Amino acid sequence: MSLPSSVDVAIIGAGAAGLGAARALENSGLSVMVLEARDRVGGRAHTVMAAPDITFDLGCGWLHSADRNSFVAIAEHLDFDIDKTRPPWREQSFDAGFPKHERADFIKSLDAFYDRAEAAAKTGRDSAASRYLEFGNRWNPMIDAISTYVNGAELDRVSILDMDAYEDTEINWRVRRGYGALMTAYGAPCPLAFNCNVTRIDHSGQCVSIETSQGMLSAGKAIVTVPTNLIADEAIRFHPALPAKVDAARGLPLGLADKVMLALDQPDALPKDGSLRGATMRTAMGSFHLRPFGQPCIEGYFGGRYARELEDEGPGALAARAIEEISTLLGSDFRRKLKPLAQSRWAHDPFARGSYSHALPGQAGMRAVLAAPVDGRLFFAGEATSPNFFSTAHGARDSGERAAREVMGSKA
Ligand SMILES: Cc1cc2nc3c(=O)[nH]c(=O)nc-3n(C[C@H](O)[C@H](O)[C@H](O)COP(=O)(O)OP(=O)(O)OC[C@H]3O[C@@H](n4cnc5c(N)ncnc54)[C@H](O)[C@@H]3O)c2cc1C
Repeated sequence: MSLPSSVDVAIIGAGAAGLGAARALENSGLSVMVLEARDRVGGRAHTVMAAPDITFDLGCGWLHSADRNSFVAIAEHLDFDIDKTRPPWREQSFDAGFPKHERADFIKSLDAFYDRAEAAAKTGRDSAASRYLEFGNRWNPMIDAISTYVNGAELDRVSILDMDAYEDTEINWRVRRGYGALMTAYGAPCPLAFNCNVTRIDHSGQCVSIETSQGMLSAGKAIVTVPTNLIADEAIRFHPALPAKVDAARGLPLGLADKVMLALDQPDALPKDGSLRGATMRTAMGSFHLRPFGQPCIEGYFGGRYARELEDEGPGALAARAIEEISTLLGSDFRRKLKPLAQSRWAHDPFARGSYSHALPGQAGMRAVLAAPVDGRLFFAGEATSPNFFSTAHGARDSGERAAREVMGSKA
C-alpha cells in the first residue's frame, strides 16, 4: 500500500504489538496505517520453511502461558492447529551426560534459587538476580544458562522485581504451522506500508509529523511499537526529544537468544520432541529440541553472551557449535548426520537489535514509564511495555490492544 499524506492513527511497526493495535482499531471509524521498515509483517515472529518438510520459527515459537494467551483463540479462529505436547525442557534424552539423579539435584537447586529470588522480591527492593545464587552451588553456571534462554541475559543483568512480575502459568503450547505464520494471517486485514523506515517523529504541532523512507506522513496520533534497543539507540528521533523514553528503553535492553535448525539424517534414531542440554557445568552451552513435531531435524537454542559471541563469529558459527555439542553427547557419527539449514542472527538484525527485553537491576519500573502516553498524541506498545507478559508475543499483542484503547479514549 502506498503512503497517504495523512491518517488519524499511524502505527509504527508491524510486529505482534502493531498488528494488535491495528486489529483493535478496525471498527473504530479512524483511518489507520501501519508503517513497517521490513518487507513483511511479524517482526520477531518469523516462520520459514527451512526445508520442504521442516517448519522453523526463527523468533517466537511457544504460546507461553497458553491458558492466558490471546493468540490461542486467534489460532483457533484462523484454523491453525495447536500442539499441546508438553515442552521437554526438563528432560535429557538417553540421559546423555546428565543422568536422572543429577537432573533431579539440578532442578532442586533451580527451584530453590527461584524461591529465594521470589522471597527477596517480596521486600520490594530490587537487585540483580545473581545475588540469589547459593554460594558455591555446583549448578550455578547451569542456572545462569537457563537465564540466558529465558531472559536472553545472565542473571547479573536481570532485575528480581521484573523477574517476579512475569506471569508464567507453566502451560506452553505450539502452533504447528508456525507462530510467525499465525502472525502473518492475523495481520492480513491490516493497512500496511512496507519498506517504510520511520526515522523521525515530530510531535511539536497539532498533528504528529512522521518522516519515513517513503516520505512524510501526518497523523492525528501515533503508536510506537519498535523494540527498545531502537529507542535506546535513537534510531527514531523524537522532536521534542523524549529523554524519559530513551532512558526507560535503556533500562529494558533486549537480551539475545538465537536459534539454529539442523537437518537430521536417520531421524528415527532419536525420540520425537526429545531434549538435550549441550553441557551441564558451564553457562555457555546450547539447548536442543530433538525432532520438534516429529520433523527430521534438531533445533538449537543459544542465549546471552555465548549467543552474542557466536553471532559475532559470523554465519555458520552457531551451527558448527551445535553440531559439536550434540556429537559430544550422542557420538561422533552425528557430525555427518547433521546438516545446517538456517539460523537467526537477531543482534545483527537492524530492526530488532536483539531478541526480547529484560529489566536491568533497579529498572523494573521502566516498563510503566515506557508504556505511558505523551500529550494524548503519542502512544507506546511492544512486548517491553507489558507489565506481566513482557518478552512474549502475546504480551506484545495485548499491549497493542491497550494502546489502541488509549488512542480511542484520548481527547487530543
Ligand atoms: C529467538 C526468539 C525466540 C522467542 N521465543 C518466544 C516464544 O517462544 N514465545 C513468545 O511468546 N515470544 C518469544 N519471543 C519473543 C517475541 O517474538 C517478541 O516478544 C514479540 O514478537 C515482539 O513483538 P513486538 O511487536 O513487541 O516487536 P517486534 O516483533 O520487534 O515488532 C516491531 C516491528 O517494528 C519494525 N520496526 C523497527 N524499527 C522500525 C522503524 N524505524 N520504522 C518502521 N518499522 C520499524 C520491525 O521491523 C518490527 O516488524 C522470541 C523472540 C526471539 C527473537
